[in-house]
Amino acid sequence: SVAARYVGRFAPSPTGPLHAGSLVAALASWLDARAAGGRWLVRIEDVDLPRCQSDAAERILAQLAACGLLPDEAPWFQSGRNARYQQVLDELLARQLAYPCACTRRDIAAALLAQGLAHERHVERPYPGTCRQGLHGRAPRAWRFHAARYQGRLAGGAHAEQAPHPSLSPKGRGQPVPPVLLPLPLGEGGGEGPPPGVRHAENESNMPLALYGQAKTASLSIANNGIHWTDRRLGPQFQDVARQVGDFVLRRADGLWAYQLAVVVDDADQGITHVVRGEDLADNTPRQILLQSALGLVTPRYLHTPLVRAGDGEKLSKQHGAPAIDDSRPLQALADAAEVLGLPAAGTASVAEALALWVNAWARNYNPPL
Ligand code: GLU
Repeated sequence: SVAARYVGRFAPSPTGPLHAGSLVAALASWLDARAAGGRWLVRIEDVDLPRCQSDAAERILAQLAACGLLPDEAPWFQSGRNARYQQVLDELLARQLAYPCACTRRDIAAALLAQGLAHERHVERPYPGTCRQGLHGRAPRAWRFHAARYQGRLAGGAHAEQAPHPSLSPKGRGQPVPPVLLPLPLGEGGGEGPPPGVRHAENESNMPLALYGQAKTASLSIANNGIHWTDRRLGPQFQDVARQVGDFVLRRADGLWAYQLAVVVDDADQGITHVVRGEDLADNTPRQILLQSALGLVTPRYLHTPLVRAGDGEKLSKQHGAPAIDDSRPLQALADAAEVLGLPAAGTASVAEALALWVNAWARNYNPPL
């Protein structure tokens, strides 16, 4: 059946135990997979080893198990995937879609200044492109994706419908193929996109669950003037990666693989059809879609879940000192996460009963997530 081909995942970075915020993403991705009759995988994103805690992965898996969230396969660890990431970087280098960069932060600040762009704290400027023309004898530090060149190779911006993930269509057993772009009828969003920097939809962190599936038509367009994509909860989104983000890093100066490269390669290699993760990652999606396109990989559907805020309004995070969920009271931890997702209270049920109730609620409230 179509639904059996759904593959979802939860991809925590083992920088600490699960907290109330990460459990929301874990629960939502598990519910979405179960409601679709699909498979659910866990991937430990331990590329940033210096920030990882040695026992955090084990701890996270134990916390998930205590909450009844059991992956259908043994978890993948990104730390074991260096050779594969290198292979993908080599391919991009060969196609001149990646290049080495020798710039330090200071070099970048100086180059921006020379372009008349003062360096401001907290304002992330696109990389000025210094090393696109070569290193001129300087030693490579990082490797970057040539976003402008790739976008420039794409056709102009007709808006399009996203074809279903090949693994979800009856004939989709073969190799991944790039998304098929079907132009919309004129007058229905075809032609010019919105100006760069404008997002169609404001983030609605408290959109009720019943609305999550409403962005039913997955509009996706990967074009020289930017990326239009549709989040299942946040609705239509737009970013011109080349102009607004620039040539982003694939391999960092400290030799570590960048999140963008690792996540794109692994989502593809694990056959992920649906990504459900925290809203703080929504901004990364256009970069990931651009990379998928450059590599001929299928773009999954995306759903970004509401964030849990700490008392001061800041996003709950490990850096913010969020406490680990209390896995001696998994039902309470799950109930808190379920509430954030707009799911009904489960009363005094067991973990298994509560999960079953929420799977039903999720399935009822969602349009099929295809
Ligand atoms: N490892 C990332 C994090 O924990 C999540 C990656 C993803 O879901 O795409 O923030």
